[in-house]
Amino acid sequence: MTPPPEQPPVARPLGPLDSVLLRGVRVLGQGATDVRIDSGRIAAMGPGADDGTAARRVDVSGLVMLPAFVDLHTHLREPGGEDSETIASGTRAAAAGGYSDVFAMANCRPVTDTPRRVESITDLAGRVGACRVHPVGAVTTGLRGQSLAPIGGMARAGARLFSDDGRCVDDPQLLREALLASREAGTVIAQHAQCPRLAGDGQINAGPVADHTGLPPWPAVAEETIAARDVVLAAETGSPLHICHVSTAGTVAVVRWAKQQGWPVTAEVAPHHLMLTDRSAAEADPLYKVNPPLRSAADVTALRAALADGTLDAVATDHAPHPAHRKANDWCHAPFGMLGLETALSVVAEVLVTSGGGPDWARIAGVMSHQPARIGGITALAGRPLRAGEPATFTLIDPEADWRVDTGELHSLSTNTPFASMTFRNRVVATAVGGRLTHDRIDLLPLTAEKEPRR
Ligand SMILES: [Zn+2]
Repeated sequence: MTPPPEQPPVARPLGPLDSVLLRGVRVLGQGATDVRIDSGRIAAMGPGADDGTAARRVDVSGLVMLPAFVDLHTHLREPGGEDSETIASGTRAAAAGGYSDVFAMANCRPVTDTPRRVESITDLAGRVGACRVHPVGAVTTGLRGQSLAPIGGMARAGARLFSDDGRCVDDPQLLREALLASREAGTVIAQHAQCPRLAGDGQINAGPVADHTGLPPWPAVAEETIAARDVVLAAETGSPLHICHVSTAGTVAVVRWAKQQGWPVTAEVAPHHLMLTDRSAAEADPLYKVNPPLRSAADVTALRAALADGTLDAVATDHAPHPAHRKANDWCHAPFGMLGLETALSVVAEVLVTSGGGPDWARIAGVMSHQPARIGGITALAGRPLRAGEPATFTLIDPEADWRVDTGELHSLSTNTPFASMTFRNRVVATAVGGRLTHDRIDLLPLTAEKEPRR
């Protein structure tokens, strides 16, 4: 077996976790065991791990260890939106949420639509990031949907995923050309499936809550028609297509059908669509305004089932920070979007459960780590199995945390989370990337240890 490759370190770890024995940890939620970490790797796991060589032993009894998470859909806002988030703050939020890697969406100002802009985000993240950042390239120049951005050049600069997210690539011929260019580059197109004509000026899921609030309705077919069209284009071009933030039962059916045909289609779902319905928006509080909108209870049921049976491959946060004063506008003038990074695990652990009712930890590792790493083409780095010899890239979860979400404690610069003041049982308490701690609520680093200087 060839050893996994060396991993680039994150720019701003809290400190190294070296020659440490974690005692009583539940790897993938299984029975308590010991894990020894040395030189950035998992040195040993299981009954023989405590061979007396570890310089320090830490009792973490009851905590669950999962491979650190990968987010295919993060809005870090920098450059251009630093009043809502920066690469530094957004990656701190990611580390606090258990993430080792995030894919940073292209709808910055300026848009990430050239190789140089891909490199500049990579460079900045390499200096200030608390997790690894993978820039997403735009599909079309300026996200304008008119001409193809230089997909091959951006791929050579390191982009693995391409998306006009926030906008749909509406022109089918342009999307077809993008799929062909992406296939040539060995990358993936991620579509924000939303027909602009059918969505119109929609603000809220079409249905009783739209009728009650009088807000313009946003029909499910706006998403489903684009999804149906695009899986056919993926089949015809033989090029991988990823569907962003699936929100309706109809889109689930389209994805299921495409997979049954063996077409190269993957899909993600956001935590808020797995837990909240449009009824949350009955008071027209813009905190619940998101694109695509919160849907019906029947849609939530279909999304949960599709995540459990593998139709939906990944959970992706669509972390979309906005300054408080902009979210405080009336509904129609407030921006779309919600925070996601710091609450994703807590939400998913409540909705992805075994028949016994507890979190299905192995499947959570699949949808939050292994599968997003595979879709994003970073399996050499992230979403690796937890076993001896692998990089010590993991997250620790307290399954009895009883955590009440306090926006004052969040690491994001923004506070627009619909989960504020909600209580969750499971909470991420520590994250390590290649043996370096990036988040630590439980003092895994001894207080006396010399912490790495913060640059
Ligand atoms: Zn989107």
